[in-house]
Amino acid sequence: LNNRAARGFTAAALFCLLLIPATGRAQDTPTRAWLSRLEAAANKMDIAVLKANSAPGVEPSFQWASMPPGMMGPKLPWKVKWLEVPDNGPAFVAFTKYHPCESSADHLYRTVRTEEGFRLGEEIPETDTLGTRVRHHKLTVRFDVPAQQVYLTDRVTVEMQPHQEQRCILRINEVYKVTAVTSEGKPVPYRQAGGFLWLPTPQSVHATFDLAYHGGIKGGAEDYFRPNQAALTSYWYPHTGRLPATCEVKVTAPKGWTGIAQGEPQGKSVTPQGVTSSWKNDLPVCYFTVAIGKYTVTTQKVGNVSVSAYLLHPSKARAQQAISSAGNAIQWFSKNLSKYPYSRYAVVETDVFPAALECYSFTLAGRSLIPMAIVHEVAHTWWGGVVPNTYTRTLWNESFAEYSDGLYGRMTRQGGMHEFNTQMMSTVGFPPVSLMEANDAMNMGHSLIGYGKGSLVLENLERMLGTPKMLACMRTFIARHKPGEDAEWRDFIDAVEETAGKEWRHFFPAWLNRTDQPALRLSDVKSSREGDKFVVTGTVVQNDPAFWVQVPVVVNTAAGEKRTEIAVKSTSQPFRIELTSKPSEVLLDPKREALRASSKGGPQPTLLSFVTASDPVLAVYATGGSAQETAAAKAVATEQAKEVLSFAKISVKADDDCTEADLAGSNLLLIGRPESLRLPANWRDLLPVTFSDQGLGVGSRQWKGADLWSIAVFPHPSREKGLVAHVAGASPEALRNFRHQRDLDSLKGLFVVKGAGKALLQEPARTNDATVVVLQP
Ligand SMILES: [Zn+2]
Repeated sequence: LNNRAARGFTAAALFCLLLIPATGRAQDTPTRAWLSRLEAAANKMDIAVLKANSAPGVEPSFQWASMPPGMMGPKLPWKVKWLEVPDNGPAFVAFTKYHPCESSADHLYRTVRTEEGFRLGEEIPETDTLGTRVRHHKLTVRFDVPAQQVYLTDRVTVEMQPHQEQRCILRINEVYKVTAVTSEGKPVPYRQAGGFLWLPTPQSVHATFDLAYHGGIKGGAEDYFRPNQAALTSYWYPHTGRLPATCEVKVTAPKGWTGIAQGEPQGKSVTPQGVTSSWKNDLPVCYFTVAIGKYTVTTQKVGNVSVSAYLLHPSKARAQQAISSAGNAIQWFSKNLSKYPYSRYAVVETDVFPAALECYSFTLAGRSLIPMAIVHEVAHTWWGGVVPNTYTRTLWNESFAEYSDGLYGRMTRQGGMHEFNTQMMSTVGFPPVSLMEANDAMNMGHSLIGYGKGSLVLENLERMLGTPKMLACMRTFIARHKPGEDAEWRDFIDAVEETAGKEWRHFFPAWLNRTDQPALRLSDVKSSREGDKFVVTGTVVQNDPAFWVQVPVVVNTAAGEKRTEIAVKSTSQPFRIELTSKPSEVLLDPKREALRASSKGGPQPTLLSFVTASDPVLAVYATGGSAQETAAAKAVATEQAKEVLSFAKISVKADDDCTEADLAGSNLLLIGRPESLRLPANWRDLLPVTFSDQGLGVGSRQWKGADLWSIAVFPHPSREKGLVAHVAGASPEALRNFRHQRDLDSLKGLFVVKGAGKALLQEPARTNDATVVVLQP
């Protein structure tokens, strides 16, 4: 075994070829052809083949194999390897590749021996530690810059926890090759299959292993070597479940370079190999980073924290900007969340890493992201540092860092980059993944949900609780946290319940578990007079189960607008707004401040969008009224429609000739009174204007006169992005005025018109999202 260890990785990679036949256990290894078949299937995203290679009775998920490549990092193929476990078979199959930062990579499957040979069993999820917890690292890192190699050792302390299987299988980025393992000075057998390292199960609760390993890192942006800078950011240390651990790191850089690792500095020494600096992080965290570079270091005290800028492109102004952004944010979060856990913080510049990365006592930040991203990264000292996240379940800490960035900006007027707002999210859309599922920071959909939706859900909670209580909830979340463990959304929910009261638990399920947004509507809106006051009452309604959401309601009055915020906590939330001047219109969240579903993404239903649409239009004329009305409707369809709708290809049909398919197939111009249109009742119900021989009406508003006519534009009920316009007259003669549109305000969608084009009413279209209610004049 000693010999095997000494032969190094080349031998380790050949274990299944050489060693196993030698021990006479050839029947316990799969054929190379089978592993190649799995590898090809994974790289072709061929889940059917992976499923076909699973044992009868097990249905492992291979969802990972269909995931798109991440937003950064090299796009590398899967490798499939056999992980032998000499102490306790059967062995495992490893699907392995480079593990990008805060993303996912390796998958470990059990195997089952069948009559046809080996088959895949269940996956061991990364969250299952098999009873092994890594508690402490004592790392040395030596960068060989010219050779683009990094040499590491780690004295890793493991704690064995009760588990029905209890194995010691550590994970480490597959670019690292383990070359020796000892324990208390004695060689220890080991097996490596890409990102998995099997070690013998320790017989005591605590044990230490000394690992030697190295990696060649070429061309990457997350782990990188350049002539003046290098860093390791991605799982360059052994772990299980990416769970928190403390660490000591000695980093050796070439002479003239500066190294930095997490925690407090422990001194420096110059050796023939270079400059070694020592660091110690007593705060257990999930994510370690080490960087070296030819930095120019500037340091200032901000409060009692030494804040430094490590710049590759030195500039007094940029150093000052970096130091004050970080220093001020540290002071504010320290005061409002909990005491900052270190004596120092550094902003470390990189030209290679394409983003900014939280390192808790420092940030590794892309050149263009200084100082923009610093507040977010400083917030991670609490959300990820003091309270760690593994990134194996959710991105809760990204929601909190992004939210805290926005909160800090609002409270202090000092900008971070809080890039997500409700309008933007409504435009970009919501990928179909919930906050409880999004866990991969490098997946575009997951990150839109984790950073974007998550931060806005917290903003919504802050609006409902008030900022002081929200801050108190976050302080409780931190205070309740047990150092050494990770945290999840449920821990924050417990903190909110403890701080704000039991009912606040109900805030979370809809936001965390669902992928849709609340579809809020106004209902039952009325205005009345009470003495010298005007009162608007109504209800904000939504489908069951209800989202909790703070939503503004704006009432337009003769004297301007009045904005009221309503806390919606049920499917039907009544409101009452008192006013001193006469209200004309009630609007639900007109500026889209609340996170809510948008009306169907089609064009705004205005007269302009209808008459300028290039989609085909079917003109449908009513035949159910008098002969004169039918003649007038047909004339509008055949003669006037072409004139008015100059961009569209127009076809004409009588109402009773139309099939449902005709109605669904194009934009529609419906001509004639609702009761004369021989269309299914659900179509007639969409028409907002009612007619009598004396005149016409919209809701309770009535106008008298045989020369009145109307146009109403609204979204097509079944055709995506389609529009419908309805035109009708109090008399056939009135209808023939359809062509007189020149004086109408074409940005409106609902019109009552007199004679040859005088508008009596023009207002926004009725849309089926029911967020605007026009009050009776
Ligand atoms: Zn972040």
